[in-house]
Amino acid sequence: MLQTVPVLLFGPTLPPAGVPTECLVNEHGIRIPPQQQVPFANLRADIGGFDHDQLQLHWQSEGSDYMLVASSPASQQQLKQLLPAKLITGLKGWHVATLSQKTVWNSLIYGAGVLVLAVMIGVWQYDHLLNWAASRISIETEHKMGKAVLSAYNKRQDAIVSGAAVNFVKELGARLTQGSKYQYQWLVIKDNAVNAFAMPGGIVIVNTGLLKKAGSADEVAAVLAHEIQHVEQRHALKHMMNSAGVAAVVMLVLGDANAAMIMIAHQVSTQFFSRQVEAEADLKGAQLLLKQHIHPEGMAQFFKRLASEQPKEGSIPEWLSSHPDTTNRIQTAEQFTKQHPCTYCQHVTWDIEAILENINRHNDSDEKPQP
Ligand SMILES: [Zn+2]
Repeated sequence: MLQTVPVLLFGPTLPPAGVPTECLVNEHGIRIPPQQQVPFANLRADIGGFDHDQLQLHWQSEGSDYMLVASSPASQQQLKQLLPAKLITGLKGWHVATLSQKTVWNSLIYGAGVLVLAVMIGVWQYDHLLNWAASRISIETEHKMGKAVLSAYNKRQDAIVSGAAVNFVKELGARLTQGSKYQYQWLVIKDNAVNAFAMPGGIVIVNTGLLKKAGSADEVAAVLAHEIQHVEQRHALKHMMNSAGVAAVVMLVLGDANAAMIMIAHQVSTQFFSRQVEAEADLKGAQLLLKQHIHPEGMAQFFKRLASEQPKEGSIPEWLSSHPDTTNRIQTAEQFTKQHPCTYCQHVTWDIEAILENINRHNDSDEKPQP
């Protein structure tokens, strides 16, 4: 009994999309109307199609290649049943191919899973990634970043350029940064907020408010030592990288500093470091004071001074910004001083009268005359 299967026929003179026709399977071979008769011996079964599950029958006729495929999954099933098992043995490759196709998909899904896992680990170990990226950034690039941040800092115009206040900060800063790989830049800004903060690359802002509020030069030294550690430990750099986002970091690592600058420049100089980072700056800052033979108790004293006052809204100093636990910091700083008795340490001296005069003169000159 002859069975007819709907197929698509492809051949050299036929349209590329194939011609719908039908295929008759008899005991000798297949017959495609009107006149092609192909013995099974001349047929080659193959697997093709987008999903790699399409049964194709190939043959040659009068020197030309022909191919047919079933026109639907149902007719393909029909075709498979009608064709002799011998021919279908060629379809073992089909299963293998289908299997390998599955393997590809499985690999892709597995790969996606690994990627998701990697991202999760990446988030989890974000600090490590950030440290790695930061380690790829040169001091020179970091300094460029700092300059970009400074140029976006809206109070840079209020810098006092000369006088006793400026000299004091620069001299104390130079003493505390001896042997550093950074070229520090100290800026005294006319601002009553009791604050100081570091930008990447060694740019440190010291507000006049800090100089006015500090009870001693030791306290200022403690603040500067703390800020210096934000530079030395690259806290400021990592903070900027973190804020600027992954794209900027990638550009920095790839060396496209200028593009990254644009992304970073809008970052405000206000920093909110984690407690862990602040604790590190406190500890290493205190160690730095000792190294420079400066009494480290200025740190605890300054904390106490700040803690005794409620910071005005909107002017939370960098020192307190991320610290509801100032009490802990005071205790830690006092403990450090106790554990490191320093017989050779000296108190930092300053001419506070001259410094205040320098600040006030600057203030007066900028004030509008009273009516
Ligand atoms: Zn800090």
